[in-house]
Amino acid sequence: MAELNVLQVSPALHQAQWWEAQPNGKVHCYLCPRHCHIGRGQAGFCFIRTNHDGKLYSLGYGAPAALQIDPIEKKPLNHFLPGSRVFSMGTAGCNMGCFFCQNWDISKSRQDQVNARAVPPGEVPLLALQNGCESLAFTYNEPTIWGEYIIDICKAAKPYGLKTVMVTNGYITREAFHDIYGYIDAANVDLKAFTETFYGKITLTHLQPVLDTLLLLKRETAVWFELTNLMIPTLNDDPEETRKLTDWILDHLGPDVPLHFTAFHPDFKLRDKPRTPPETLHRARQIALEAGLHFVYEGNIFSDAANTYCPSCGTILIERSWHSVEANRLQAGNCPQCRSAIPGVWKRASPLGGKPASGGKGVSAE
Ligand code: SF4
Repeated sequence: MAELNVLQVSPALHQAQWWEAQPNGKVHCYLCPRHCHIGRGQAGFCFIRTNHDGKLYSLGYGAPAALQIDPIEKKPLNHFLPGSRVFSMGTAGCNMGCFFCQNWDISKSRQDQVNARAVPPGEVPLLALQNGCESLAFTYNEPTIWGEYIIDICKAAKPYGLKTVMVTNGYITREAFHDIYGYIDAANVDLKAFTETFYGKITLTHLQPVLDTLLLLKRETAVWFELTNLMIPTLNDDPEETRKLTDWILDHLGPDVPLHFTAFHPDFKLRDKPRTPPETLHRARQIALEAGLHFVYEGNIFSDAANTYCPSCGTILIERSWHSVEANRLQAGNCPQCRSAIPGVWKRASPLGGKPASGGKGVSAE
């Protein structure tokens, strides 16, 4: 999809949330489980939260480095407004250090190294509506690290009937979780592996906080969420690991959480690994289905496992080719054959063409 043309302007500093002052001018950021202690003039691990004169500022606020219109299936979300367009945005920086990052040009950059544009929160819903989008996605880099901007965008977007989506690594603290997810309708969470070794060595983080976020999503929110497991040859594709991962999902999140096994391609610091063979994804999907998960997809390859099948009678409900929906046979969220209710958010949003429903503030698109 074409990149959107928005004026390039230097953003102003925006004071951050989720921090506390420390002795000798340092600040403690508790937005994510890294808990950075940041000295004056320095930035946290994610690059875009900086200490100026003993206060924490968000450099990502109002300054996206990427703006695009995507199909919602690209996030990937297969049970959320299928076939719709999503206004997608990301900033510089990230709070993980994944060696295999596929958006490393922005996620491993500082704010002054990316082509950032000035887009105030109130302008985002208008851009989305002008481009025929039904939702907004915070994606490409880790959105948690620009949570202040997300909250203000969501506040501006809700009166227009736009839905909101996080595409996230799930690395967020409980302290910040509800502040952000209270405004979110759907999420895709990367469950990158199911070993602490992988998280520690390949992403420079830890597994347990990600599992904790999944439990919070399940137990304490109404957010629709799906999971992605990018399978990297020899690093996280062991069938025993896949078995443990799917068993955990079944036991803690239930059988109806869609799981996407996606193929890796060599990138960033992991160029010595081959592409994931399709057979690896087929095997993982088989393990997950045998464990009892109802909706298991394969991504980044052409596959019949991009379709949604009824778990009761096997009817193809939504037929897809890559990220494109070729046919949607759901009837009011039910299988047309056996009438089973299929979990998801199927009702198409009806964005209001630039007018807030009520109480919203209109913003000039100029
Ligand atoms: S959000 Fe950034 S600055 Fe804050 S703790 Fe995480 S990595 Fe550190």
